Amino acid sequence: MQSPGTLHIVATPIGNLGDLSPRALEVLGAVGAICAEDTRHTRQLLSHFGLERPLLALHQHNEEAQAEQLVARLQAGESLALVSDAGTPLVSDPGFRLVRAARVAGVRVSPVPGACAAIAALSVAGIASDRFAFEGFLPAKSGARRERLARLAAESRTLIFYESAHRIEESLGDLVAAFGADRPAVLARELTKLFETVLDGGLGQLLERVAADPNQRKGEFVLVVEGAGEDADARLIEGQRLYLKLSEHLPPSTAAKLAAELSGASRKALYGGGS
Ligand code: SAM
Repeated sequence: MQSPGTLHIVATPIGNLGDLSPRALEVLGAVGAICAEDTRHTRQLLSHFGLERPLLALHQHNEEAQAEQLVARLQAGESLALVSDAGTPLVSDPGFRLVRAARVAGVRVSPVPGACAAIAALSVAGIASDRFAFEGFLPAKSGARRERLARLAAESRTLIFYESAHRIEESLGDLVAAFGADRPAVLARELTKLFETVLDGGLGQLLERVAADPNQRKGEFVLVVEGAGEDADARLIEGQRLYLKLSEHLPPSTAAKLAAELSGASRKALYGGGS
């Protein structure tokens, strides 16, 4: 019987092409085909390095359907690679369904590690990095975003968020309302690219800088936010608990008012939308 192939999960650069590792190049050049989020984008990357391999589109809309067929190819002995448009596949990118299907089928899945925007930002933030929670993208709708942030306000681990240019100002505004203007944070923009900028300060200061300078609203962003301090925690946690319970029965602003009164937490921290 033919021994199964390997599914290689290959990280690609988040900006600077020099960050594609020699092993990534070796693996990409050797596999039977490369599953890519956007085949045009990956073709350009490959051609920059003089590589040409068959490409298969694998994105959030077809991943479930494609997984079975790809696993059959792997089981038949072909090795495949998975890449995303930038950075590490599966990190706010497609891939976990394929990886799960491959693992269930007993196919070897092997990583070729490399760039990841979240880890790159954390590595330069100067914010406690021993325990952190990666939150990916916040919800696009403001109500859902504020609710998510209200639930995170008492989190003591460092928080890492991804954000896009068109929502960075709005999200920073909601973060200030939920976590307070003084919460230390780092905004990492365009990492490894020409206009790389790493700003630090309180969330309120970061919002002011982004609001004042249109250049600071361009490109791709990672926001690293310090976790809640131990003192603030107890009141905030109690406030959050009460708010979530009360908001099942009352309008959010009334629930926040009552929860703030009962717990001693700031009403703004419980419900960024109200005041
Ligand atoms: N898989 C990727 C990784 O490993 O980082 C992330 C893909 S996610 C769809 C894209 C988001 O990652 C962007 O919206 C931005 O928040 C962040 N990002 C990607 N490249 C970046 C860069 N060079 N500088 C800052 N943030 C970046």
